[in-house]
Order: sequence, then structure tokens, then C-alpha cells
Amino acid sequence: MKNDYDIIVVGAGPAGSIAARSAAEKGVSVLMLEKDRDVGYPVRCGEAISKAGVEEFIQPNEKWICAKISQFCFVAPDKSEVWIEFGDAGFVLERKIFDYELAQTAAAAGTEIITRCYVYDLIIENGKVCGVKYESQGEKKEVRSKIVIAADGVESRVGRWAGLKTEIDFREMESAVQITAANIPINQNALYFYFGQNVAPNGYFWIFPKGNNSANIGLGVSGIVGKKKSALSFLNDFMNEHYPNAPILTQIAGGVPCSLTLEKISAPGIMLVGDAARQVNPLSGGGIASGMIGGSIAGKIAAEAILKNNLDHILSYDRAWNDRLGKRHEIFNRIKNGIYNFSDDTFNSLAKTFIKVPLEKRTLGRLFTQALINKPSLLVEVAKVFVI
Ligand SMILES: Cc1cc2nc3c(=O)[nH]c(=O)nc-3n(C[C@H](O)[C@H](O)[C@H](O)COP(=O)(O)OP(=O)(O)OC[C@H]3O[C@@H](n4cnc5c(N)ncnc54)[C@H](O)[C@@H]3O)c2cc1C
Repeated sequence: MKNDYDIIVVGAGPAGSIAARSAAEKGVSVLMLEKDRDVGYPVRCGEAISKAGVEEFIQPNEKWICAKISQFCFVAPDKSEVWIEFGDAGFVLERKIFDYELAQTAAAAGTEIITRCYVYDLIIENGKVCGVKYESQGEKKEVRSKIVIAADGVESRVGRWAGLKTEIDFREMESAVQITAANIPINQNALYFYFGQNVAPNGYFWIFPKGNNSANIGLGVSGIVGKKKSALSFLNDFMNEHYPNAPILTQIAGGVPCSLTLEKISAPGIMLVGDAARQVNPLSGGGIASGMIGGSIAGKIAAEAILKNNLDHILSYDRAWNDRLGKRHEIFNRIKNGIYNFSDDTFNSLAKTFIKVPLEKRTLGRLFTQALINKPSLLVEVAKVFVI
């Protein structure tokens, strides 16, 4: 390990690995530091992702694909099911292998990676971030860089140390809990989403197949709901009703920032990517693909800044992100706010109406359009995202 790098990436999740790889591919020197012992573990994720989201960055590989998804099933509070068929919509991943492979691609591009390396502060000189302070094997050390990319996930502190405003409203921080359970007899090619006050008020409940009859089962609810009844209580109630005897293989909990991206995600010497930048899709709560997109934009711009010898160039990252996904997330956020407050009756009548649409004509765009039929202002937004 050297004392000085062009770029240091903090955190080896999907956003960090893709940022590191995208920068290293341009020939600059990159160091990625990860606090945990293993890249990719522990996993705190439902592991669902679209096929396009994967293919933009890595060739799909059976090693880390647990299920291939071609259908969605939306379950209304009265238990009526609305099925939507897709071609090859996406995957349920084995993230501990997926994340590991992504880090390997970053390494193959020239990134140095060190695990069990906890970054506890930044080096800041004359208002510019110039490196990190870290602890490794009981020793405190420093390493310098021209740019630091913070990819330290939902609990990110690096951005705050750099002086960026990283707090979000607690109502937008979904509290999520999930188990992986065995003996769950569901369609192994379908993602199931449940809605309603009894399962996940202001959020949704999911069952995602993981192969071999096992599944990731969990929910995310807005911070405001979590204060009254915990996400875990909702999960326990659901399991007692539907799968009382299912063996539980893992249990995880975590926050999902279902908000807009932070107002500022770059400043002199620092860029934020993935959950650290709040780049999660606020409607679905999915952050793997969007984090990789944020990472790739940041990594490329950081490398260009080094190569052009113009570090101010990193400040163009905010705009580049907004053009690619940030503005779209604003629309998703408005749709989320329109939908999540629906009463159970509204969800039930929506399901009844949609079930009448022939299977081959059912699309997500049509479903959301139907859902928001009473909110004309949002219909145009839905059309922009799903139809146009
Ligand atoms: C219960 C749950 C279910 C979810 N389900 C889905 C889903 O189905 N699909 C989807 O797309 N998204 C899902 N998400 C969201 C998804 O997991 C995240 O959006 C995604 O992991 C973000 O990637 P990232 O690289 O930004 O952060 P992370 O994957 O969290 O990686 C951050 C890394 O930084 C490291 N780190 C943190 N601090 C430091 C430090 N100080 N020094 C060094 N290293 C540090 C961490 O150890 C970690 O490895 C879910 C989240 C939760 C909680």
C-alpha cells in the first residue's frame, strides 16, 4: 500500500466497487477500503434487481443468480392477486457472491483493495478533502488522495465529515426487516408484493424467491409507522399467518433511504455514491442498480478530473447524476407519496379493476396509471416514466 493515491473509495458495496472499477479502468490509481472482513458480507438486502440493472455492469452469471424473474404478483389487502408477466425482468441475487465478484472486477481493473480497514475520519486541508484516516489491525494510519469517493452505505458518515448535509427526514428512512426462510412454496420466477395496513402501512411487504423453495421475506415501513409498530412485529404476524412452521435461515434489519438524492453529492475532494448519496429508487427501495449507476458516473468523472488535472471537474457529478437518474427519482418519489397513503379499500378496488385487464395487456405503467387515476397531476409523470 502506498501513502498516496489518485482516488480512495470508502466501502466495497456495489456502488464502491463500480466507482473504483470505472476510475481504475481509466488508468488512475485507486485504493478501496472496506471495514468488514469480507467483501459482500453481511448482506442486508432483498437481492432483487432488474436484468438491465445487472447487464449494464456485469455479465449475468449462474454463480450469483438464485432466481430468474419473469412475473410480478401484487397482492391487495383483500388477498386478491394481480399478476403481471414480463419477459426476462430480472434476478434475485446471491449478493455475497455478486458483491465479491464486482470487487474482483474492480481489482482486475487495477484497484487495490483492503478489508478490515475502518475509515474513521477524513484529512481535510484548506477546505478540501485530501485523504482518509483509518484503523487496520489495531493501528491508526492515514493515506492521502486527490479525491475520496464515499460509498459507505446507508449509515454513511464520510459525507457528513466532509461538511455535506446528509440527514434525511426520518419519515423517508424506511425501516426494513427481512428473513430468509426455507420451505416457502411460491412461484420461483415471481416477485410478490403485498400492500395494506395489516402487512406494511406506507410501504410494502415482499417475498422474493431464492431457489430451492427458500425465499427472502420482509418489509419496509416508513419511520413514522415503525414508531408505532415495529417492522419485525409486522413480519412475525405475517409469518404466523402464512408460514408458521417455516425454518428461518437468516434475519436482517436495516434502513432504506426512500428519499430524494441529497441536494449536494460532491464538494472539493469528495463525491458520494450509492446509499451514502441517497441514490436509492424511492418508489421501490431498490438501491443496487442505482448505486452502481451513481458509482460509475462518479468513478469516471473522478478519473477525468485527475487526468485533466482539474479537480473542480468532480463538481459536475451532481448534474450528471441528476440527468441520468436523479430527476427520474423525483418523479418516483412523487408517485410513492401518491400511492403509499392509499387506504385498503383503494388498493382492493384497484386490484379488482386491474384484474379485468387481459394478462397480455398488463404493464407496470398501466397499473400505476390506474392507481393514480384520481390524481391527474401525477398521471403525466407516470406516463413519462413508464410509457414514453
Ligand atoms: C432489508 C433490505 C432489503 C433491501 N432489498 C433490496 C432489493 O431487493 N433490491 C435492491 O436493489 N436494493 C435493496 N436494498 C437496498 C440495497 O441493499 C442498498 O441500496 C445497496 O446495498 C446500496 O449499495 P452501496 O454500495 O451504496 O452500500 P452497501 O452495499 O451498504 O455497501 C457499503 C459498504 O461500505 C462499508 N463501510 C461502511 N462504513 C465504512 C467505513 N467507515 N470504512 C470502511 N468501510 C465502510 C460497509 O461495510 C459496506 O460494505 C435493501 C435494503 C435493505 C436494508
